[in-house]
Amino acid sequence: MCAKILKLPEPVINQIAAGEVVENPASIVKELIENSLDAGANRIDVEVVAGGQELIRIIDDGCGMDREDALLCLERHATSKIQSVDDLQELSTMGFRGEALAAIASVAHFELKTSDGKATRVQVEGGKVVTVEPCARNRGTTVEVRSLFYNVPARKKFQKSKTASFAAVSRIVETIAIAHPEVAFSLNEKNFAPSSLKDRIAEILGEHEHEVKGERIHGFVASPDKAMAMRTGQYLYINRRPIFSPLIAKAVKEAFGTRIGEHSYPRFVLFLEVEPSEVDVNVHPQKREVRFRDESGIFRLVQKAIEEVFAPKMIFSEPISFEMPQSASFSEQLLPMAYKAETKEFDWIIQEKPLAAIGKYLLVQRDGLFLVDLQAAHARVLFETLVFEKTSQALLWPLEIPISPEEEERALGLESLGIECRILKKRLVVDALPSFLEAADFPQFYAEWREGKKIDEIATRFCRSLRKNWSIDQGMALWIEVQKCKDRIYDPLGNPISKQMTEEDLAKWMTRA
Ligand code: ADP
Ligand code: MG
Repeated sequence: MCAKILKLPEPVINQIAAGEVVENPASIVKELIENSLDAGANRIDVEVVAGGQELIRIIDDGCGMDREDALLCLERHATSKIQSVDDLQELSTMGFRGEALAAIASVAHFELKTSDGKATRVQVEGGKVVTVEPCARNRGTTVEVRSLFYNVPARKKFQKSKTASFAAVSRIVETIAIAHPEVAFSLNEKNFAPSSLKDRIAEILGEHEHEVKGERIHGFVASPDKAMAMRTGQYLYINRRPIFSPLIAKAVKEAFGTRIGEHSYPRFVLFLEVEPSEVDVNVHPQKREVRFRDESGIFRLVQKAIEEVFAPKMIFSEPISFEMPQSASFSEQLLPMAYKAETKEFDWIIQEKPLAAIGKYLLVQRDGLFLVDLQAAHARVLFETLVFEKTSQALLWPLEIPISPEEEERALGLESLGIECRILKKRLVVDALPSFLEAADFPQFYAEWREGKKIDEIATRFCRSLRKNWSIDQGMALWIEVQKCKDRIYDPLGNPISKQMTEEDLAKWMTRA
């Protein structure tokens, strides 16, 4: 279809320009909250009806405006935040373009009530001021946006459903609230009281157990077992502004290493402080992705900070000592070689006392109690043996498993793990196995291997499938072996190996029971 070319009338041009800043209710809420923060508000109340499509109301207790500014702020490129291009370098406010209010007011029924001591009410219809009058209000500002896009039917048609729209508004409010825990926020009936960063995160996203404290980076990450299949649990801020950066997401994921699976994403809230000259300043209001000048430097900085979180000191604040249990039975059955190997430098004594083995759990005494999940411990030890050590011990009798010709290549791949094997007449013959992989259990291990999964998953699934009742000695031997691992805290898929129970925890458990 071809139509005649016509020049657009001025109001339409303004509305199209507004489209850059004002895409939907969520983007309006973002602009208005940022204005409230810039005005030094301690409390910001957000109310929306129909996901913001019918009403958005933002009430703050910030500095407010006098009558003159209340009118000026509605004009395009009217801002109190910068006066020259140089000011952009030292920007401390969220806004600076002086566009948001003008844009919002041009596409909705708009009302501003603001007071810096003396209150003014301004009403705008389709971009035109229709009322300016004194009113009653405490210091602060209320902005009301009704019937969004009533005068831009084309945009109105493309709005999301009310539910999706509300979800987007919630995400924006929560994202900003996380970066400003000292400010009270509310969204409809939900309230966030002023609190610490940790508590604000816990309230909005659930507990993020581990604090990140590095050079120019701080925040919290959730334990690996809370990783998600999507990236929605990742909140990243640069100089307190929410941004999106695949580079940093990747640095965090790499630092999690084998604690999470390939297709899961760690949950984090991270704040980076970066010199404005280090990032490509992107002044587009909606674009959240940034580029760094020194990408590899930023990558390392993030990776290092996260790796430190999971460094062994987390559980063991003092150097651990280590003493072999004085029993022989366990080693014969479970880990003959590695146990006797003197290559590892362990002259320390484990101070924990094993108290009991209950099914797959070992109960250990140390500053309260430690519950060790022996299947998780086994998976960690086996994984590290297969991946890092690649040593194996000859079997007394070679093990044979019938396999199909198609499986041969995959089967021989076992050698990359230090498992000595060969193919003989449609059989896989295994001559030597690593410690922690018993001959009797090998067929089960092979069944996992054959499916072509990754080794972290194979090790974990295999160990979970062995329903062992461990003895105290076996359990303790494994627990000692875990102490030698690169990662003593999680199994290869990120499930915790041990959990401490303090006296307080016990008291809680007691009263709940
Ligand atoms: P910008 O934030 O980029 O300056 P806006 O159009 O969002 O542009 O706001 C224009 C001006 O109106 C701001 O510079 C500020 O002086 C004033 N203003 C807006 N909202 C508030 C508020 N909630 N409290 C006090 N002043 C405000
Ligand atoms: Mg603004």
